[in-house]
Amino acid sequence: MKAPVHQIKKAFEEELLRIESVSALEQLKIKYLGKKGAVLALMPLIRDLEPSERPAFGEQINALKQFVLQRIETLAKELSYQEMLSKIESERIDITLPGARTFVGRKHPIMQMLDQMIDILLSMGFSVQYSSEIEDEYYNYEGLNYPEDHPARDMQDTFYIDDKRTLLRSHCTSIQQHLLENHSPPIRVVAPGKCYRNETITSRSHVFFYQVDVVYIDKGVSFADLLATQEDFYSKVFNQKVEMRVRPSYFPFVEPGIEVDIRCTCCQGKGCVLCKQAGYLEVAGAGMVHPNILKTGGLDPDIYSGYAWGGGVERLFMLLHQVEDIRLFTQNDVRFLAQF
Ligand SMILES: [Zn+2]
Repeated sequence: MKAPVHQIKKAFEEELLRIESVSALEQLKIKYLGKKGAVLALMPLIRDLEPSERPAFGEQINALKQFVLQRIETLAKELSYQEMLSKIESERIDITLPGARTFVGRKHPIMQMLDQMIDILLSMGFSVQYSSEIEDEYYNYEGLNYPEDHPARDMQDTFYIDDKRTLLRSHCTSIQQHLLENHSPPIRVVAPGKCYRNETITSRSHVFFYQVDVVYIDKGVSFADLLATQEDFYSKVFNQKVEMRVRPSYFPFVEPGIEVDIRCTCCQGKGCVLCKQAGYLEVAGAGMVHPNILKTGGLDPDIYSGYAWGGGVERLFMLLHQVEDIRLFTQNDVRFLAQF
């Protein structure tokens, strides 16, 4: 009875040679070793044999079963290894290939400058507060002690949105009466933001620009506090000890009012292109908060005092990086913007 066993073994070996995948091998295993498989199908043949021959035939079937199982297991290992290799190959990444270049955006130079200014002021104990770019005339002018007929109120200089009551703020100082309405001293605030003025656009001026307005109101705030704070602030901005110079000036919302210059950081006062041979750079307008503003805000000017100063962000950036034309900031020319 060796013949049927031999035939099955031969047929199995031939089929095994054609197997190329783990799943096909699974099918082959079922075909030969399953309950209805070719190997178990030999069992009924035992009944046709003499009892003396039966054990030997049983051993042959058993040996065939072992043989088939072993060959299948061996091939299964090989196939799964190969399949793993081809999977790895298909997922291979060549880390030596040059990467795809991506262009990462960056902060606009003015935002960088603004962040730097705010960071310095935060470290000096100020907190940041924002007010609306669209403002009532009261907060922009009246509440800041502007006389009724002040030329700045004119349509020539101010963007009015409607019948002379609503406008685009012309300075961040417009936050002051809001602060006095909503807070009690000490008020120590930096108000950054965009301001608008109806001016001719030139290399030095634009219809909109960023400003940082700093205000400190409390008992006993002095002019010396203003100067010391400004000197400290501009020393940090220019990353060197700056020498300040003040000139008397007039702004309706301060008394006394001053213009603040620092000695040119480029030529140290000798005169150069940056300072237009003046030796000094204008950085801010400043002064002591006008008593009328304190009164309007409900504070007694005999008890409280305050200082305020405001400076253009573009202007400071232009001085720091020797940029000659304010229009460059709004022209979206990446060749310019990418330098900073
Ligand atoms: Zn200079």
